[in-house]
Amino acid sequence: MSTNGEQNIVKGNKEYAASFTQGHLALPPSQNYAVVTCMDARIDPTSAFGIPLGAAHVIRNAGASARDAFRSIVISQQLLGTTEVLLVKHTGCGMLTFDNDTAKGLVKKNKGEAAAKEVEDLDFLTFPDLEAEVKSDVEWLRGRAVEEGINFTGWIYEVETGKARQVV
Ligand SMILES: [Zn+2]
Repeated sequence: MSTNGEQNIVKGNKEYAASFTQGHLALPPSQNYAVVTCMDARIDPTSAFGIPLGAAHVIRNAGASARDAFRSIVISQQLLGTTEVLLVKHTGCGMLTFDNDTAKGLVKKNKGEAAAKEVEDLDFLTFPDLEAEVKSDVEWLRGRAVEEGINFTGWIYEVETGKARQVV
């Protein structure tokens, strides 16, 4: 008995590979930019943000956190030549709904003391204000010496309408 995820990848990939013609693409993104966005299941970055296959890096994590994505951002730029970052957070983000104490409390309740210890120093990087967090993340990136010369913009994607608007 396979899981939903296993069934989807087997069936979906079979269909995808049957008509796949993009095996010639180069490793570095052809349009030299990276998108940082949330892992939220309602966001389809390639469609919603108009990204052709092979054109850009898409870095995803809970909340589209710049700090969490920093390792990948540096790799994207230094090893693969991207010079632009679009940071896209979204309405209805789960990261607006809890804080560190809540998350750590859940781990302790559900998984016990040893598990709680493993996450005690983890910052879940939640935030209370969406627009302020987009600005703050972009500012944080602009303040890094390693990010000198990189073009940054910050956006909010609306899961209710499918529309993205620029904040900064
Ligand atoms: Zn989110």
